[in-house]
Amino acid sequence: MRPFRIVPFFDAVGMPLVALVGAALATVEAARPLRERRVRRAERWVTNARMGALAGAVVRLAIVPTVNACARGAAERNVGVLRWLPLPRAARAALGFVALDYSMYLWHRALHGVPLLWRSHAVHHVDRDLDVTTALRFHVGELAASVPFRAAQTVLLGVGPRVALVYELAMQAAALFHHSNVRLPARVDRALARVFVTPRMHGVHHSTAREELASNWGVVFAVWDRLHGTARWRATPPDIGLLAENAPGGVAPSAVAQERGRGLGRVSA
Ligand SMILES: [Zn+2]
Repeated sequence: MRPFRIVPFFDAVGMPLVALVGAALATVEAARPLRERRVRRAERWVTNARMGALAGAVVRLAIVPTVNACARGAAERNVGVLRWLPLPRAARAALGFVALDYSMYLWHRALHGVPLLWRSHAVHHVDRDLDVTTALRFHVGELAASVPFRAAQTVLLGVGPRVALVYELAMQAAALFHHSNVRLPARVDRALARVFVTPRMHGVHHSTAREELASNWGVVFAVWDRLHGTARWRATPPDIGLLAENAPGGVAPSAVAQERGRGLGRVSA
């Protein structure tokens, strides 16, 4: 496994496309914001960009090479549940994509349910506003902890390298979209939320209200939340952030206090 090796499909095609999606969403959310900002954009963007640079390094230098190597290894040894099913190649690829997304739904629930994981995932929830940059705001601890999970997920399911990398890109584009502050017409958002996780839907997951925080765990598809009865949708956005009473013990309360210390007043910048 050589982490610095260029993966042409991922690095030369996929990532520039994801960056374009991010730039387009940032442009649209500036013109059609869903929620009023509470914190000055520059203030949050510096923090989120700094965290995003570290997170991006872990994704590219640890997660992508691991997933790629595991997918190749599983293919060479013909292991994984999907390879043992008598399915046409295209159906297996589609099923692999869907199964990866379901396992990420379960991983997100674990991030909230396992105290050690929640301590690092809470850093993502501390953001007082949501926009495309929140999709970059992940603690390196959370991403490092996901490496063995992502390896197991790839090998046990038996997804091929192409499907694994396409899912990685789709997940990043989906995260940019559902964290974005883009105001889709409510009826469009609601219709879309029957299948995909939308900005209004994921906004509910970032609510300060505990029962809303425990909903909408999906990444790309909203169907897992529907199947598990954890889907919530509201037209009016909730208050965004993590209150001290919902924060894990240890690391996060200081971050919460720091963010709250900046005040809850709304700003326009
Ligand atoms: Zn979460």
